[in-house]
Amino acid sequence: MTSLSTTSEMLDCDDVMHRLWEYLDGELSPDRMTAMRRHLELCRNCHPHEAYERAFLDAVSRARREHPDLPGLRGRVLERLRDAGFAAR
Ligand SMILES: [Zn+2]
Repeated sequence: MTSLSTTSEMLDCDDVMHRLWEYLDGELSPDRMTAMRRHLELCRNCHPHEAYERAFLDAVSRARREHPDLPGLRGRVLERLRDAGFAAR
């Protein structure tokens, strides 16, 4: 494993996939946020994953607002996404 500390410009797909949730939560450094955004814009491989995770987060927060204490919320959301044509990995 090589250090990632100096590679803010060049992320590979593995890096992006590992950090996707942190990226969507805005938890990365500004440099890395930029590098992530650039990669996701250009990479046909990763872009569908971002779209999927975003749709997932979106559906979760919407469902949470509507049904704050619903058990099994995650599974229900996944089901709804599948219905909407998003394929789970
Ligand atoms: Zn990629």
